[in-house]
Amino acid sequence: MIEAQTQIPVVPLGDGLAPIGGETAVLPHFVNGAGWEGTGTETQPVFNPATGQPIAQALCGTPADVDRAVAAAKAALPGWRQRTPKDRANVLLEAAAVLEANAEELAHLESVNTGKPMPLARDDVAGTIDTLRFMAGAVRAQLSLSAGEYVTGRTSMIVREPVGVVAAITPWNYPLLTAAWKIGPILAAGNTCVLKPSDQTPLTALRMADLLAEVFPAGVLNVVTGAGSVVGEALATHPDVALVSVTGSVRSGQAVAGAAAATLKRVHLELGGKAPVMVFADADLDAVADGIRVAGFGNSGQDCGAACRILVEQSVHGELLKRLVPRVESLVVGDPAAGDHIEMGPLVSKTHRDSVLGFLDRAFAEGARAATGGRAPEDDGYFVLPTVLVDLPDGAESTREEIFGPVVTVETFTDEDAAVEAANSTAYGLSASVWTEDARRAADLPGRLDFGTVWVNDHLAFATEMPWGGFKSSGYGRDLSAYALDDYSRTKHVMFNRARSADEAEQA
Ligand code: NAD
Repeated sequence: MIEAQTQIPVVPLGDGLAPIGGETAVLPHFVNGAGWEGTGTETQPVFNPATGQPIAQALCGTPADVDRAVAAAKAALPGWRQRTPKDRANVLLEAAAVLEANAEELAHLESVNTGKPMPLARDDVAGTIDTLRFMAGAVRAQLSLSAGEYVTGRTSMIVREPVGVVAAITPWNYPLLTAAWKIGPILAAGNTCVLKPSDQTPLTALRMADLLAEVFPAGVLNVVTGAGSVVGEALATHPDVALVSVTGSVRSGQAVAGAAAATLKRVHLELGGKAPVMVFADADLDAVADGIRVAGFGNSGQDCGAACRILVEQSVHGELLKRLVPRVESLVVGDPAAGDHIEMGPLVSKTHRDSVLGFLDRAFAEGARAATGGRAPEDDGYFVLPTVLVDLPDGAESTREEIFGPVVTVETFTDEDAAVEAANSTAYGLSASVWTEDARRAADLPGRLDFGTVWVNDHLAFATEMPWGGFKSSGYGRDLSAYALDDYSRTKHVMFNRARSADEAEQA
């Protein structure tokens, strides 16, 4: 897969990506305000998962490339952090405007590289822009304990500072959006950043950096492409990186937290999920089925918050399936290039498609049955049919592990306490939903569920103003909202002794 060369002739990012430059175009890193060919000798193809065809080559970054990018971010830090919140906010607003002017191109790149339908890719770009705009406003309106006299004769104040150079490591399912969820608060808070996108989906991160080359001062935002085990590891261990922020799998989060321990750098982890969807007999079952159609199968189920584990009250199990299965079968699956009517594209890679099919094989071996789907279609590209699994034995692997594909499992319960216990029984703690028309239950259950987000009569709705992040194995740290700004800041207590003489100081 990886191709070694002695010299890598990289293309300018704009030329390489719009239109996509074909499999021979080698995309540079983006360091210190410009494309850079790096120090390595290897490249890796970037695929369109809907066709299985390579569409570009990305550089396999090296630790030396990371050194250079971190040095650029470190050099840019004093100038960037000393700007006022208003000045940084204005830069972020300008960045948002540039991205908005290029939104369709970014959505197209995202769709071609990830296989996600264009309407979803457009939503991702809109969310990216909104995140930058929100962070631009939020950094100017931060609240804190007021300055004052907390010890007699002394005035205390809290100073909020950036932490320094922050490494952002992102996954392939929402390449641009997850990057923006990091870059927005990281830069707003006055840090500089080295971003490592997933080696499978580097296109939009590179294009974004390129589009913003004239907006951000050189070195404020850098992008190094390559493998997690090389570039990601080098960032996690780098002595000049103050904080490393990862969105990805539990395994990657553990690796980064372990590597970061050597320098005791701060870690921010947004990891996997296995969201229970608790459906009570009094729920509006049409709304539930509509909700699962979107939240279970959007982005081909490759969503950390996907509505993937249905827990339904036994008495309405049949009624729910009667509504759900036809809705799932009505999903329009295909190559997003066919048009905006495509609702579900392929999985991101052959390896990932095979992993999802492996989960299905093992589920069938455990006795599960597919109420619909359950296999890959004959088409080119890495597709799996939208699948609803039923008749699952207690503790079945597919009800516990993150499949990260278009697969929804359905289990039943007869008792509310048992349903809560089942929902909490997973190692993940990212998100959950409760579907009920009972006001007391709706008010009570979120407090009993061990998940960072709980929706009531909804699933996978986001607000930029509200925090997103998990408990337990889903990690710690918060994306979005003012809490993300806190995560990428450090607080300093400055105390002034106001005594004018030694006597006064003694009296105080
Ligand atoms: P992944 O863990 O394979 O990769 C994520 C990133 O980590 C990539 O950039 C990868 O190169 C890097 N990485 C891998 N090993 C590393 C290491 N040892 N050191 C440093 N970096 C390393 O995840 P993925 O397959 O790209 O994405 C899917 C996963 O991401 C799923 O588990 C999903 O639930 C999770 N996810 C979580 C959220 C959230 O908000 N909680 C959002 C999106 C995706």
